[in-house]
Amino acid sequence: MKITRIAVHQVDLPLREGRYSWSGGKSVSVFDSTVVRVDTDEGLTGWGEVCPLGPVYLPSYAAGARAGIRELAPALLGQDPTGLELLNRLMDRTLKGHPYAKSALDMACWDILGKAAGQPLCTLLGGRYEEDFVLYRAISQRSPEEMAENVAGYREQGYRRFQLKAGSDVKTDIARIRAVREVLEDDDILVADANTGWLMHEAARVVRGVRDVDVYIEQPCASYEECLTIRRRTDHPFVLDESVDGLSMLLQAHADGAMDVANIKISKFGGLTRARQARDLCASMGVAMTVEDSWGGDIITAAIAHLAHSTPTEFLFTSTDFNSYGTVSIADGAPTGVDGRMRASEAPGLGVEPKLDVLGEPVFEVS
Ligand code: MG
Repeated sequence: MKITRIAVHQVDLPLREGRYSWSGGKSVSVFDSTVVRVDTDEGLTGWGEVCPLGPVYLPSYAAGARAGIRELAPALLGQDPTGLELLNRLMDRTLKGHPYAKSALDMACWDILGKAAGQPLCTLLGGRYEEDFVLYRAISQRSPEEMAENVAGYREQGYRRFQLKAGSDVKTDIARIRAVREVLEDDDILVADANTGWLMHEAARVVRGVRDVDVYIEQPCASYEECLTIRRRTDHPFVLDESVDGLSMLLQAHADGAMDVANIKISKFGGLTRARQARDLCASMGVAMTVEDSWGGDIITAAIAHLAHSTPTEFLFTSTDFNSYGTVSIADGAPTGVDGRMRASEAPGLGVEPKLDVLGEPVFEVS
């Protein structure tokens, strides 16, 4: 089988809540998502998606994803889309770095592999664990009272795990954590994600200020070394996200005892091929994971579901149903969260049928 055409679509994904805010006053109202279609000479078509969390979360941005795909696509024409490792090595030889630009192409080729094999990706990624898997709800940064109210609302929808967007001033962040923990039950899980927003002295004050509260601390500071410093002076369970973007960082963080949970985002690692390697390494090392992506619509939600559902249950800390955050559906067949849980499709490949009328004409194509 050979790749004959790669087409790239751009789609806007507005937020149901109007705005998603996190540390340092950063926010997004409409996500700029990129959808990739890969056609083959055997009539199979694969779909992928990449959606950065705006341009200032990770070193990635929407126009950069499309520029990277434009650079990569000609090299992929004529290649077998089912040889994923070979294909990823070819992408690495064609464009150094830029994992997020490779992510949607890799995802689309996995979709083709699944369709060719007649198997859902979940099976090809390791097998389906249990009936469904657990989701978390990200709580956009607002006042402590509003965040507690939002958590209570999402709890009524069935969510039991919550990730608060913290990373602003110390007093308010402590108030946020306390206000939200108040509305939760003992078994519910609360994560305060500072998204690199605290300096070390601020993080030290926050973890001391909530010492009696059952809360996980996620990526308090900008650098790995700063996070490690805070890790060593708190007994809260600790999640690393922005700092771990490859296997060598995961190995180092594990060797340093720097994390209890790692956040595995598909596009941060460069696609399902690399995210799966990271996932399997973490499971081998005894590190639990949040399995997700930076953001996305139905196609990314489907890909997350396959990777999450094929993660051993005890290692899956949480996952995300991003398609429930937006107002625009870009594909049929994508899973939806129910009572704070989700299951991967049983259809071959990703199991999605993109809505061509929503995607519109491609912004460019290579054939
Ligand atoms: Mg995070």
